[in-house]
Amino acid sequence: MRQTAERLRLTGKRISVVPTMGYLHEGHLSLIRIAKKKSDVTITTLFVNPTQFGPNEDFSHYPRSFERDLSLAHSAGTDYLFAPEASQMYPTGYSTYVNVEGVADVLEGKSRPGHFRGVATVVTKLLNLTKPHVAVFGQKDAQQVAVIRRLVRDLNIDVEVLVVPIVREPDGLAMSSRNTYLNAEQRRQATVLYQALVLAEQRIKQGVRECSKIIDEMKSLITANSSGQIDYISIADNNSLQELAALQLRQSVLVSLAVKFGTTRLIDNIVLLV
Ligand code: AMP
Repeated sequence: MRQTAERLRLTGKRISVVPTMGYLHEGHLSLIRIAKKKSDVTITTLFVNPTQFGPNEDFSHYPRSFERDLSLAHSAGTDYLFAPEASQMYPTGYSTYVNVEGVADVLEGKSRPGHFRGVATVVTKLLNLTKPHVAVFGQKDAQQVAVIRRLVRDLNIDVEVLVVPIVREPDGLAMSSRNTYLNAEQRRQATVLYQALVLAEQRIKQGVRECSKIIDEMKSLITANSSGQIDYISIADNNSLQELAALQLRQSVLVSLAVKFGTTRLIDNIVLLV
């Protein structure tokens, strides 16, 4: 992969990379399409990264379908699909990890200890392997974007980070490979996540400034309309990701949540300008 990337660079090509864990959907494909517009050559990476899963998480049964991903990535315009084996990425004796502090410690980082250590490590490796000028990520994983921006800045990595809006199903549910875990009833109830985010948006537009009041209303909406177990609901500053008590005018805020339907944990978010 490194030799191919180097050859492309030497012939003056602008390279984009789209890191994914596969089981591609329209969200991933929108990243690939934008990557293609922003570069001469697009590399999609497909790697279910073991180091970003906790011991009791879904690594072993994460959905995988190589042939399907190959044809979808190709149809969206990717030039290369880089799909290494875990044993190649983490051979025996592997012992180096990238730890982003601060922004990685809250929200998902708190609920999933070690998750962002795995993400930062694999993204660093994928950037070194694919040598991109542009790396494309989805707003779906808002905190991941903040962690990667911090990583790129702090380690002086020479890459432009591009963020693509969340692609949703017609009923508002954010597309996710994990949606395939949901049964029909859970899938129906899962629309309440986006409804809760829209409710927060409405309340902020109506002038509500007290975050706990908005969060309580979101909680009520979710519990009244689903059997989802709320992991967290957060209203945070969109840059620092620190939770807010009250909103300030013209502040960019990230409203995010994580809710479990049975064993399936879904996340979603919305960014709002107060
Ligand atoms: P994943 O395969 O879940 O690791 O996701 C790979 C990339 O696709 C990440 O940058 C995600 O944020 C992005 N992504 C996943 N779902 C969506 C979506 N519904 N809309 C936009 N981007 C997404």
